[in-house]
Amino acid sequence: GGNEPTDFIRSIITDDQAAGAYDGRVVTRFPPEPNGYLHIGHAKSICLNFGVGEQFPGARCNMRFDDTNPTREDIEYVDSILADIRWLGFDWGQHVYYASDYFEQLYQYAEQLILDGNAYIDSLSAEEIRHYRGTLTDPGRESPHRTRPTEENLDLFRRMRAGEFPDGAHVLRARIDMASPNVNMRDPVLYRIRHAEHHRTGNDWCIYPMYDYAHSLSDSIEGITHSLCTLEFEDHRPLYDWCQEVLGIYRSRQIEFARLNLSHTVMSKRMLRRLVEDEHVAGWDDPRMPTISALRRRGYTPESIRDMCERVGIARRNTVTELALLEYCLREDLNLRAPRRMAVLNPLKLVITNYPEDQSELFEAINNPEDDSMGVRQVPFSREIYIERDDFMEDPPRRFYRLAPGREVRLRYACLITCTDVIKDADGNVTEVHCTYDPNSRGGNAPDGRRVQGTIHWVSAAHAAPLEVRVYDNLFTDPSPASAADDAGQDFTDLISPDSLRIVNAWAEPALADASPGDRYQFERLGYFCADIRDSKPGAPVFNRTVTLRDSWAR
Ligand code: ATP
Ligand code: MG
Ligand code: MG
Repeated sequence: GGNEPTDFIRSIITDDQAAGAYDGRVVTRFPPEPNGYLHIGHAKSICLNFGVGEQFPGARCNMRFDDTNPTREDIEYVDSILADIRWLGFDWGQHVYYASDYFEQLYQYAEQLILDGNAYIDSLSAEEIRHYRGTLTDPGRESPHRTRPTEENLDLFRRMRAGEFPDGAHVLRARIDMASPNVNMRDPVLYRIRHAEHHRTGNDWCIYPMYDYAHSLSDSIEGITHSLCTLEFEDHRPLYDWCQEVLGIYRSRQIEFARLNLSHTVMSKRMLRRLVEDEHVAGWDDPRMPTISALRRRGYTPESIRDMCERVGIARRNTVTELALLEYCLREDLNLRAPRRMAVLNPLKLVITNYPEDQSELFEAINNPEDDSMGVRQVPFSREIYIERDDFMEDPPRRFYRLAPGREVRLRYACLITCTDVIKDADGNVTEVHCTYDPNSRGGNAPDGRRVQGTIHWVSAAHAAPLEVRVYDNLFTDPSPASAADDAGQDFTDLISPDSLRIVNAWAEPALADASPGDRYQFERLGYFCADIRDSKPGAPVFNRTVTLRDSWAR
């Protein structure tokens, strides 16, 4: 339709389809390595690849694990990645692809490279290979093994596979061009020996293909038409093309786009793993992490993440997306969908002295002013209530429209009250506020129509449900922690904020005690909160603050 997102990649695909390229097929793939949890950056690639797969007639997107590096990979990551993609709302059909399923085929292609004179066994050490490769300004030098006869290469490669050599004894290298201005083309390593168990193939293999080789061939094997990847692979494209070209196999087209960078967080798996392993956070799904599983646990909706990805768009320019944009997308979504409730996070007791002691009543409250179909609920009210401590000031500045001695405010959905007394402890801390209410203001309005500016939320003390609330803030206050740490010669973990989690014992209207894990609410005037999916117990939910109502940064 006319509202489909559009960008330079979709334009290329549209043109290809119009020209009948790739026999009219469109096949993309999302190819994570199962060595960590997906993060918000991956969501951009997921939305693009699966989005294209849904958008074009007859198109599809392959879910493929690029699981060619045995040492860091694990089934735990495979499972979490699939769960996250499903949660984001995408579907990969019946089949999950694994690059490790192609190990035999990749090996056979490697033998073909050797037979065609396009690859050789090098016996230099990793250190020597790096040294011989040269730098951007320095031409590379050819390895003395570069001219090894084909028969010897083949024999050595087969013996590598058979497990005759220890790790590092030999590698298979492409024979391309040691003088290439592109360092990636200076006889890149295609296979290395690694005596390690693989999470799917066990001990079947002790040689494993390198990423660029495996990726190019996997794309070709699956008939991927458009291989969409991030900009840092631009310099790898000549090698990607070379592999398919010299083998004479199906040609896929690699197209690069800018990765998503998000402010106030780190996104490389190496850093995320450090946060988990050094216990700066409680796990990969700690609600302060930028992983998809953490965002889900914190209360983010898949729709908000997809909306952000769409707003950021696909381009070739590297930018940093403000976390504020993601939060904006979330508020837009939850404003329409989240039921409202009242909860008090920092309670101050308030006594309504002219309200009978043994009485209580119910007031009707609107569940969502944005959506009448969500109806109303009854909220209990009585003589003693809790209000937010900062909704009261003994000596308020001008323009403070909340409660103060002698002032009248509205208790949301209930009535108008006027402050008559302030009770303090020996240190002068306010412990209690006394008010009178206007019995004619039931529901919140005075019959004489007098204007009352302030409206505050409250919870009946006798009826209140105790809640544990986890008030989260950014794990890093610096907008770009990775580069700030670099600039200051610090480790990025030195920039972790000490205030990223505050645990609060709150009081809530009784309906919140029945919240189910994962339920999202707006706590009126405070923000959006989500019942934690791990730690909530029946009748005793634990709430995560997902996001405040308004971003203090933006004001
Ligand atoms: P990281 O660099 O964060 O450790 P990765 O690139 O190693 O992640 P992969 O599992 O290889 O993680 O990524 C799977 C796919 O997701 C790749 O196609 C990769 O380009 C893409 N991707 C990873 N990070 C981002 C990002 N920040 N923005 C867009 N796409 C990304
Ligand atoms: Mg990777
Ligand atoms: Mg990477």
